[in-house]
Amino acid sequence: MIEFKRAATTLALVAGLGVAVFVSAQQIGGEVPVWKGPDGPIDLGLRDPVLVGALDLHTHLDPDMSGGGQVARAMDTIDMARQARARGMRGFALKTHMDVSSAASAYYAREAVPGVEAFGRFVMNLPVGGLNPAAVMQFVSINGGWGRIVEFPTRDARPRQPENRPWVAPWLSLFPGRPNYVPIVEGGELTDDAKGIIELVSRIRTEGSNGTVVIATGHATPEGHVLITREARRLGVPTLITHPNDTVSDAQYQEMKELGAFFEVLLDFYQGDDEADAKIAFALKQIERLGAESIVLATDCGQLNNPLPADCIVLGAQALRARGVSESQLDMMLKENPARLLGLPQTATR
Ligand SMILES: [Zn+2]
Repeated sequence: MIEFKRAATTLALVAGLGVAVFVSAQQIGGEVPVWKGPDGPIDLGLRDPVLVGALDLHTHLDPDMSGGGQVARAMDTIDMARQARARGMRGFALKTHMDVSSAASAYYAREAVPGVEAFGRFVMNLPVGGLNPAAVMQFVSINGGWGRIVEFPTRDARPRQPENRPWVAPWLSLFPGRPNYVPIVEGGELTDDAKGIIELVSRIRTEGSNGTVVIATGHATPEGHVLITREARRLGVPTLITHPNDTVSDAQYQEMKELGAFFEVLLDFYQGDDEADAKIAFALKQIERLGAESIVLATDCGQLNNPLPADCIVLGAQALRARGVSESQLDMMLKENPARLLGLPQTATR
């Protein structure tokens, strides 16, 4: 269950939209206990038409563990399902960086909160053996068939990850020959394993609910995003470019757009000490560059240092509206496009 404390978070969010206004002990003077910061967000309970029918394809929720060193989760998958139903959301996808358990969590969320469309999104990092076709089969076979997004490596992607990752360091010297990252591109081409995964995904439907499976590109290099997209689109696999940034060139963006990919843009504007203005400006840039028709807005929220996902959607929508994004663009990016990407009917079936 959620235990919400620390009204200070709410006050800061409401007063300054994420601008922290805490006063330090030094400013007050004297012996003041050290304030260690909030231990979780308050449910702001924000309501907004943009929530009605929204499908958030990127949340981080318990009981997921993304490998140590992660920001702890503020709520679990069933809490999220309850929040989604209370606010009129259509549903959400739980992203598990390290294993296929998001498909099982989606099953439980649907059992606990009928009417909410919960989905699993799993990433092919080292704990599942990297680009492992058997893990993909397990993910889509978990009862219900709600595992719908298979993602290329993130926390074990090459080359940006250090060797001292907590899920790697303890065994690295014991298994010197074993890969400690998951390559997807070699010599300017996708590896055979990467191609094989895309081909497998193109052929499968999820067990029980006959769903199509989406490929997400993960923390790929710009070249990796493009190569995955080309191969996925060649085989007719719906493709989500995982929150790309400015390292992707305009030409690369344009090519992927023409291939029919969707681009993920995140609404975690008020996470921790992040620069909200810079994040909002980047979201606007993506909407201008790619068009709302090619964008899936998702929160990347659910951690202790973010507002809760439904509040992230409302706060994000308010920020974008105030800068000229229209209601129909918001609906397209938060409702229509996520449904289209997952191959769902445009209106929820409940
Ligand atoms: Zn994330």
